Amino acid sequence: MHATSPVSNIAEQFFTAAITSGTLAHGYVLKGKNTSTLYHLALSIAQALNCSNPPQRPVGTEAPPPLSSLACGQCKDCRWISRNAHPAIMTVSRLTYQVNEKGELMIPEELEKQAKKASAPTQIKTDQIGQLIHHLGVSSEHCRVVIFTDVEERPASQASPVPPPYEWQCIEANAEKSFHVRPLDRSVFNAFSVNKFLKTLEEPPPRTLFLFLTETEEQLLDTIVSRCQVVPCLAPQSPAQEDPSLAAFADFYEKLRQHLQRKGDIYQLMAEFQAVFIEAQGLSTPQALSGFQQFLRQKFVTAPVDTARFASYRILQQTLEKTIGVVEAKANENASLLNLFIELSKQLKSASLP
Ligand SMILES: [Zn+2]
Repeated sequence: MHATSPVSNIAEQFFTAAITSGTLAHGYVLKGKNTSTLYHLALSIAQALNCSNPPQRPVGTEAPPPLSSLACGQCKDCRWISRNAHPAIMTVSRLTYQVNEKGELMIPEELEKQAKKASAPTQIKTDQIGQLIHHLGVSSEHCRVVIFTDVEERPASQASPVPPPYEWQCIEANAEKSFHVRPLDRSVFNAFSVNKFLKTLEEPPPRTLFLFLTETEEQLLDTIVSRCQVVPCLAPQSPAQEDPSLAAFADFYEKLRQHLQRKGDIYQLMAEFQAVFIEAQGLSTPQALSGFQQFLRQKFVTAPVDTARFASYRILQQTLEKTIGVVEAKANENASLLNLFIELSKQLKSASLP
């Protein structure tokens, strides 16, 4: 059984490429609207890294295989991870990885007692981080995956949408509660616990991966974001939702590519963008830019993705977001459009775009 659920194709392809090419970094911020989806993605990554009987991959195929094909789903490690009971896969939240006053991990009875208390802890405790660092200091044959997430308690009638880790299971069994993952917010960290942790995040023990689940990186602490790569996890779009104007963007994109090959003038392209999308189609500039953003996203979802391509994609999406912001604020529209086209041509020239 695989720990997969519908996850963004781009994010999955990104991790497949990073794992198979050995370029996985040690910290990622997974950002997306649905934290359960992010949590499932984290477990799929954990399986791909820990499967003891990984399937043979066909050689010579251009498209990267799905992330789930890197793990067998049947071996002991895969099964443990899909039940979220693997000792190397740790979930850290204000409600989990609990430690008692002596700084030791709580036993099930203590967890139950904690769960019956009226108010839930609002922050990840410094002792929790101390325990985590201690735990990571002990060598392991596995690849450790540490998932940071926020979580809220709900009545047991609303089943947890993710396989609950050990601590949640202990509490759920007796406290008539279930746990629902939520995006991380900076308020769940306190200054002491974060400072204690930053060095480990910067120089983690070998074969250790940190994943932070959040909705936007602005919600997280800069000190964490700056030490991680941010991976946007977009929900895959169904063809029915496709916008007919995407075809016009596809035309424009091809034109842009050819124009750059001929070393054409960037101002001319900008004028063409304005003529086609703003004058002829009657879109506002932010509408035209959002359409272009949607087109690029579509293009990436269907193309093979490697690390360089993904980096280009991120730069473009960020530049587009920034440009839309500037244009909406009715600030320097032409200058920001020009800047966008310069970035676009730079990325196209680097040949990392599909
Ligand atoms: Zn396996």
